[in-house]
Amino acid sequence: MSYDPANIFAKILRGEIPAHKVFEDDTALVMMDIFPQSRGHCLVIPKAASRNLLDADPAALSAIMPLVQRVAKAARAATGADGVRVVQFNEAAAGQTVFHLHFHIIPVYEGVALGAHAGGQADNAELAGLAGEISAQL
Ligand code: AMP
Repeated sequence: MSYDPANIFAKILRGEIPAHKVFEDDTALVMMDIFPQSRGHCLVIPKAASRNLLDADPAALSAIMPLVQRVAKAARAATGADGVRVVQFNEAAAGQTVFHLHFHIIPVYEGVALGAHAGGQADNAELAGLAGEISAQL
């Protein structure tokens, strides 16, 4: 299957749809997930176009992993989470719903169950606050 530039993350990368941005440079965007599975759930999105890990340029993958680590550490520091889950889905059968490569950074709190994948929408003001707090730890 080929990359569809009309996917929602491509629209966000082009600035056509707003996002709670945590970080942006020439190669990547980090934003809050609007249907978070936990407090602080954010997404690391390489700007290079690929559906997912399977068709990604290995060089783009090498370039993005240090940022995945930085954001995982920053999200943990900002939220006080006990752990961090890093998740990435490839194709619909595996749970992928947006077909532009992204890595989920999901803070995990001892004794608190994670919400459903792409479940309820979070409060905008809370997401804006978390974006600022995670950004400050980067
Ligand atoms: P995946 O199943 O890995 O493709 O996950 C896509 C993720 O994107 C889900 O966790 C959704 O909650 C999230 N999502 C969908 N639309 C938006 C949006 N406009 N802004 C931020 N996150 C989104």
